[in-house]
Amino acid sequence: MSADASTTTLSVDLGERSYPIHIGVGLLGDSQWLSPYLAGRQVMVVTNEVVAPLYLERFKQGLPKDCEVREVVLPDGEHTKSLTSVSLIWDALLQAGFNRRCTLIALGGGVIGDMTGYAAACYQRGVAFIQVPTTLLSQVDSSVGGKTGINHPLGKNMIGAFWQPKAVLIDTNTLVTLPPRELSAGLAEVIKYGLIRDAAFLAWLEANVAALRALDSDALRHAILESCALKAAIVAEDETEQGVRALLNLGHTFGHAIEAHQGYGAWLHGEAVGTGMLMAAELSRRLEWLSKTQVERVARLLDAAGLPLAAPANMSTSDFLARMRLDKKNIDSKLRLILLRHLGDACLTDQAPPELLERLLDDFPR
Ligand code: NAD
Ligand code: MG
Repeated sequence: MSADASTTTLSVDLGERSYPIHIGVGLLGDSQWLSPYLAGRQVMVVTNEVVAPLYLERFKQGLPKDCEVREVVLPDGEHTKSLTSVSLIWDALLQAGFNRRCTLIALGGGVIGDMTGYAAACYQRGVAFIQVPTTLLSQVDSSVGGKTGINHPLGKNMIGAFWQPKAVLIDTNTLVTLPPRELSAGLAEVIKYGLIRDAAFLAWLEANVAALRALDSDALRHAILESCALKAAIVAEDETEQGVRALLNLGHTFGHAIEAHQGYGAWLHGEAVGTGMLMAAELSRRLEWLSKTQVERVARLLDAAGLPLAAPANMSTSDFLARMRLDKKNIDSKLRLILLRHLGDACLTDQAPPELLERLLDDFPR
């Protein structure tokens, strides 16, 4: 499949570490998108047991013929984002005799991307890495920004490094095989960008959410481009999360509480973030920052994206508060939240009185 006419490129501007994100249909298997970013001829493709049968062969066809290609196929699931898996990648690199001019390629969702990036950041003190994200979430979120890492038994994403890829290749055709629930979870992060930074994009999403769920490739390309551009702009302003990057956590304090309470995996991250954003919107209304109509707009869009609007039935106000107090954003025991001053304008604030938060948690639908 030809990719030219329908491929859009976004440049992530980080000085010497700037890199392109190519978004289109049929990029997988087309060597023009890969060749310029390979550091040398040694290529290690990292993927998993779900993605490999679907896309690995086609992907390898897009590698220049003179490359020495090896692959690591890991089991599926968040639990594989571990030091054990990273060690397997390093073993494979050393056994193949790969040197500092090798390139690691992550073919898969955020789990594969985070882990492969971390393996690349550490191997021989840092080698080239290319992201080929195959879930909507990884296309709009985890493949932009340079955060890489693995989970520790005592905490998610606790071990990691900032390590930017040489390029990100997004083939929207890969979403055809993605389970619809995973697509909706990715849409939660897309909606998040509109809510925190871009009212016009939010309105576009309201008009196009059905097309996105139907995998219309032009709509997908636009939504992914806008999302990556918004995230890239925020990351360029604040690469190591000293300030504005925190806004990307809209809905996440509530969402993490839901995920942790339900046991990781019961609710997908994006589902929990979707409900969390509605909770943040409703709390913003109680501060008289948003109107009732605006909160209803948020609810309608989340609903149209296939996301849950109610919090888990088994979660009490005190369950929420106990989890939320552990949030990294809190300073001196004051609860800090990302809330909405307007649709398209988020802020980090400790202005929400604790009683208001408690009342919201009491009233919010289960
Ligand atoms: P994932 O990688 O587990 O993928 C979800 C599921 O979809 C998996 O079962 C996977 O095998 C499968 N899959 C992947 N591509 C597919 C395809 N094209 N067709 C069919 N199935 C496919 O999860 P995710 O949602 O992509 O990413 C979540 C991870 O990303 C978490 O570990 C999270 O911590 C991380 N993350 C990182 C950042 C960052 O900035 N680095 C940001 C957000 C999330
Ligand atoms: Mg998230």
